[in-house]
Amino acid sequence: MNFCAQCGAKVTLQMPSGDDRMRFVCDDCHTIFYDNPKMVVGTIPVKGNAILLCKRAIEPRREKWTLPAGWLENGETVSACAVRETREEACAEVDDLQPYVLANLPFINQVYFFMRARLLNADFHAGYESLEVQLFSPDLIPWGELAFSAVHETLKLFCDDIRKSEFPFRVLDIKPQQRL
Ligand code: ZN
Repeated sequence: MNFCAQCGAKVTLQMPSGDDRMRFVCDDCHTIFYDNPKMVVGTIPVKGNAILLCKRAIEPRREKWTLPAGWLENGETVSACAVRETREEACAEVDDLQPYVLANLPFINQVYFFMRARLLNADFHAGYESLEVQLFSPDLIPWGELAFSAVHETLKLFCDDIRKSEFPFRVLDIKPQQRL
């Protein structure tokens, strides 16, 4: 960041009084700019025991498989975001959303939030960010072709939970070396 979003003057990195880390602060109007983690919200769309995955049409990780997910927008609830992203990436309709995994990725300043969801019908197809959309039974998930470690960890837990028919909410800490 170089210039103030309020007045256009130069900003400099400073430690505001009472704070414990460096922030960009406007030299002129003294506005403090806080840079905080971003949230990615998605679903695990399920029909029977099969899970809907999307093959990415965009970078990063083009041609790898992922769960439908994307950035939470301002003014949006996580449930609305989950439904919207599932519609955009898989052209799929879901309901009965249940919190399932919150994954911390502090090394890239992101938080992932995945909700279990019931896939309403088989009328899905690739949205503009996907090359293909397909239902996978747990034993056919393309483990070596998954896009993100948070998706990998979430699917691993989910496949275990399918066997137990119990789906407790979990908080995961993803490590940098788990990045695929
Ligand atoms: Zn300013």
